[in-house]
Amino acid sequence: MSFELDDLVSISALSHFVYCKRRCALIHIEQIWTENLFTAEGREMHERAHDGGSEIRGDVRTDRGLAIRSLRLGLSGIADVVEFHRQPDGSWQPFPVEYKLGKPKADDCDTVQLCAQAMCLEEMLNVSIPAGALFYGKTRRRLDVSFDTRLRDKTEETARSVHALFDSGRTPEAVYAKRCESCSLIAQCLPKTMGKRRSVKRYLEKALEKE
Ligand code: SF4
Repeated sequence: MSFELDDLVSISALSHFVYCKRRCALIHIEQIWTENLFTAEGREMHERAHDGGSEIRGDVRTDRGLAIRSLRLGLSGIADVVEFHRQPDGSWQPFPVEYKLGKPKADDCDTVQLCAQAMCLEEMLNVSIPAGALFYGKTRRRLDVSFDTRLRDKTEETARSVHALFDSGRTPEAVYAKRCESCSLIAQCLPKTMGKRRSVKRYLEKALEKE
């Protein structure tokens, strides 16, 4: 299967989807976006990462703000940084690096996004990319990420799920969780209120059952 250019979805939607399906729909279907401290600092960090074009230092060429896409997965976006490492045979091995605020996360939202970037580059450049890295602002450390079969499968599955979500045009219901406290959309989403509403519904259903 190959997507048309008009049907490509943003690679960042995959990260939003893994974090929370509702957040993904609120941002990309309902076009709701508000900034909090986390997103403002994250945006500035990405803008800094996109500045500066290209440079070569020794055996590493660094390109910033590279436009990438995959027609097979139906994805497009901007890669913060792609390093090209010179190999002994003279070829250049791409190595994507994504900048993130904060620290490494327990879920796959960052690694899926990075893997999607690698899969876009593989399709565009006809190469195999075994690894990349995430740079976290809080820890100031680079975390190497291996694009193994599990991560590639999850990335492909997430891309399919995001397309299905967008095709449905339906925003999933809120489910309150710890992650909501760091979510810039908590005021619009009202996950606790939605949770209570579901409790009332359950209460009424039980009451009707008894009657
Ligand atoms: S507040 Fe929670 S449920 Fe609502 S979009 Fe954010 S993470 Fe998802």
